[in-house]
Amino acid sequence: MANASLYETLGVPKNASQDELKKAYRKLVRQYHPDTHPGDATAEEKFKEVQSAYDVLSDPEKRKQYDTFGSTNGRSGPGPGAGQAGFDMGDFDLGDLFGGLFGGGRGRGGQQQRPERGQRGNDVEVEVRVSFDDALKGLRTTVPVTLELACHTCHGTGAAPGTTPKRCPQCGGSGVVATSQGLFALQQPCPTCRGNGTIVETPCSTCRGSGRERRTKRYTVSIPAGVKDGSKIKLKGKGEAGYGGAPAGDLFVVTRVEPSKLYERRGDDLILEVPVSYDEAALGAEVEIPTPDGRVSLKIAAGSTDGKLLRVKGRGAPKLKGDGRGDLLARLRIAVPAKPSKAEREALENLRKVQKANPRDRLFS
Ligand SMILES: [Zn+2]
Ligand SMILES: [Zn+2]
Repeated sequence: MANASLYETLGVPKNASQDELKKAYRKLVRQYHPDTHPGDATAEEKFKEVQSAYDVLSDPEKRKQYDTFGSTNGRSGPGPGAGQAGFDMGDFDLGDLFGGLFGGGRGRGGQQQRPERGQRGNDVEVEVRVSFDDALKGLRTTVPVTLELACHTCHGTGAAPGTTPKRCPQCGGSGVVATSQGLFALQQPCPTCRGNGTIVETPCSTCRGSGRERRTKRYTVSIPAGVKDGSKIKLKGKGEAGYGGAPAGDLFVVTRVEPSKLYERRGDDLILEVPVSYDEAALGAEVEIPTPDGRVSLKIAAGSTDGKLLRVKGRGAPKLKGDGRGDLLARLRIAVPAKPSKAEREALENLRKVQKANPRDRLFS
């Protein structure tokens, strides 16, 4: 490894953009991830090289220094924790990589992250489609989620049934070793036990020793009345399994609410377009309109203009926080007959004859 340039290690040109770097990195990490090559030392070595190369090139400061000096040893004044240059145990999680969440979420680039084996499992998000009506009323539904859970055969230990994992002889159970990696003195996960502190002599055949498996689970979720498009419901501890006995992550169910034919949602209010005829708007009227829970009667004042909003209290969506409901906002739309009947035409022509006010007067004042 010593003499290949970091760019060669990642297989990218020297002027590669951050995006290209990230893409190349992710591809290689997937290719050489220890979980997919259990016990393959060459793949593991390659995996580490890729990690180290990316650590440097993904950091604009370090990259500049590397481009200039060919190494990053020139003490660019890193802050505390520099001894463990970004070798973050989270990077070992395949689910994270396959899930496309890499670099997002909590803690990326945080020097404070200790390589600890008891890392909490990842949070997982899953979307559920909800009809507009169900979003107003609430419902219980089941959601299938495919995620990494503790292996059901070995219950997460990675050891075949009837055997137990042994304390790792190389790191003495701490899960970390200090090594010189060419560019850095790194404190990094122990290569023998991959940071677990224990080794499995007889791997479980279901999970091939990883202690984890991807499975599809179905959870029943109560979706409260009033959810919006993008609302998140948290199911604590239903995310991915933790590492080494740490707690599982959380599952977030994100509601995707289908649009309504009638209503437009604005916060807790619903907007309804209400067509009214010219005479109803001019003379006033009382008309029936639909609401999510039945018809109500709406008073239209004489002289109402197109676009006027009338508020019907308490007929909107239920409030997610607290009691009560939003309002229904009726927006008046003056409708004209596309094909007036003969009688209508006559009446309208009469109106034209007697109409005094010119509606465009104010354009010229
Ligand atoms: Zn297993
Ligand atoms: Zn070890």
